[in-house]
Amino acid sequence: MKQSFSVSSRLSTLDPKDANFAVDAVDLLLPMALARGASDVHLQPRENGWDVLFRIDGVLSVADSLPRGGSSDPVTRLMVLAGLPTYRSSQPMEGRLNWASADSDAQDVSMRLGVFPTVHGPRAVVRVLRRGDMFDSIAALQMPGDVSTRLQELCNHTDGAVLLSGPAGSGKTTTMYAMLRHIASMIPRRSVMTIEDPVETVIDSISQSELDPSAGMTLASALRSAVRQDSEVLLVSEVRDPETAEAALQASLTGHLVFSSLHATDVSASLRRLVQLGIPNYVLRSGVRAVIAQRLLRCVCPTCRAESESTTEGDACPECLGSGYRGRIAVAHCVCFDGSDPVGEALSDALESGASAVQMRRLAVEAGDLDLHARARQLVESGITDEAEVYRVLGRSAQDH
Ligand SMILES: [Zn+2]
Repeated sequence: MKQSFSVSSRLSTLDPKDANFAVDAVDLLLPMALARGASDVHLQPRENGWDVLFRIDGVLSVADSLPRGGSSDPVTRLMVLAGLPTYRSSQPMEGRLNWASADSDAQDVSMRLGVFPTVHGPRAVVRVLRRGDMFDSIAALQMPGDVSTRLQELCNHTDGAVLLSGPAGSGKTTTMYAMLRHIASMIPRRSVMTIEDPVETVIDSISQSELDPSAGMTLASALRSAVRQDSEVLLVSEVRDPETAEAALQASLTGHLVFSSLHATDVSASLRRLVQLGIPNYVLRSGVRAVIAQRLLRCVCPTCRAESESTTEGDACPECLGSGYRGRIAVAHCVCFDGSDPVGEALSDALESGASAVQMRRLAVEAGDLDLHARARQLVESGITDEAEVYRVLGRSAQDH
């Protein structure tokens, strides 16, 4: 069912002197954020109140404001809901809360609360945790057919590392989860373990663990122990230091299919990042099965920007709140390094010969590569997104320089 919502809200009209102010504010705020599809809600304190910001489709904007003036504080209310001690609001804290929807048929929504002290009192950020069943298959990611087929084929392997690259919020975790769900649904069953920081979505029939550095459970140490748990498929949320890189590649070479993510802009940069982390070329060549670079692009709003329909003057489009975009689509670039992909061969050779980033990109294109920019252009041509969004997310393409 399509949800419609009002652009204006009642938050700014609440009376801060009302004894129920904070409870009412949170009761209005969270359903409003959910209805608008926000992934994060910010309550940013000012001298006279709070700015309410929503991150929708990856973009943060001011949604409303809350007045100050009484003793009741919406951030404290959130802390109570998350079971955090409110008398310690002068230090950063994190907690979880479950929001029970007024609609009794709807599931509770799990949220993570972060509180941080500022000069105007604590600020709060609520992250809405994705429902576990949203991307229950690789097909649900809506990748182009050839990428989707490759992702499914990668799940059939019993060893090698599959690395996802892109900045925070580029959908890497969603893609990895969709692949794990695909693997979890396969018969015969395989032993799947994850080491995450933190676990964002709980998946049935796999073992998920969270880091606990205070107990000595780091990514690398947990990974080395998980290998000894008769595991076949491992996910380690991120390769961010030489120790984790070494442990992940080691596992991939010893009969484990390993999924992980890297902070790197594209496929070539991911390879160079692994080299920087001390992984020798020959280990890269035998251990890395595929690198997937990914971004999320906002889709043009079908209600107000479809070419067939005229834009209504005056009122902001209720579907996209006047932003012109609604929903996002993943754009992905998948390169295999197992000898099956000429682009992977070209990139491996280039890396070994010490080629520069520009040379690597040129060699990949010569081998028939369709990189993120080329994939994004296809989405612009088919009217799913537009040039401005591609520029916002990907910047200029190599061709434009
Ligand atoms: Zn619209």
